[in-house]
Formats: sequence, C-alpha cells, structure tokens
Amino acid sequence: MNLTRVDHVGIAVENLDEALKFYEGVLGLKSTGKEVVEEQKVTVAFLPCGDSELELLESTTPDGPIARFIEKNGGRGGIQHVAVRVDNIEAAIKEVMDAGHRMLDEKPRYGAGGARIAFVHPKTTGGVLLELTERK
Ligand code: ZN
Repeated sequence: MNLTRVDHVGIAVENLDEALKFYEGVLGLKSTGKEVVEEQKVTVAFLPCGDSELELLESTTPDGPIARFIEKNGGRGGIQHVAVRVDNIEAAIKEVMDAGHRMLDEKPRYGAGGARIAFVHPKTTGGVLLELTERK
C-alpha cells in the first residue's frame, strides 16, 4: 500500500463556531470553508496545517456518529479519527481485506471536499478509527 502522508486528524467538537475561535483566532489556522456531509450527519471544517490538516467535525443530529462519540467520551469532544492518504483507495481496501483484516467500509464513500474515503475497523488498528483517504 502506498501511504503518502497523514492526510488529517479528525477532531469531534461540540460547537464548530466556538472551536474555530480557538483554531483560527488563537492558533492562526485558516479554515478552507464549512461543508455539511449528510451521509455522516456532520458539518466539517478543514484547517490546513503544514503537510496535513485538522478536520473539525460537529454533529448535525443528536444520533449521528459524532454525537455518539462525544457521548461515549464523557460529553466532551476529542480526537475521533486519523486519516492517511492513499493513492488508490480500492487497492488499499483490498490489501487490508486480503491480509485478513476488517474494514468498516468495504467500498469507498464520499468524504468532504470530494475525497473518497473508507474506514478501517478499530479492532484492526489498535483501537484507532483509521480513515483511508484518496484525493485527486
Ligand atoms: Zn476525516
């Protein structure tokens, strides 16, 4: 598998606008804009930071995956996933599965910014939700 970089770190936040006050206002990062990803019930903002980015995720519904993450995390946000860039997502998924490991997504799905993404099962990764990301 050709992993080219850490693409981004996904951080669940309770309130995106409040979080941006710190990440932009204090850290000086600049969001590339907000996007609602209906399929994952989130509003996201990407903040480029060197060769990778931070992805802030706010749930759009009380039953979405980010809302459930915050609930399980004691009502606080936190690091929800780490994403690595791959140059061919179908090949990357196949390699994980051919090696006998589990994917949460056996087919790529839509990710913010037009990326194609797939999550590896946390049991495979030592407890980390790992996103494979392909960007063209
Ligand atoms: Zn992500």
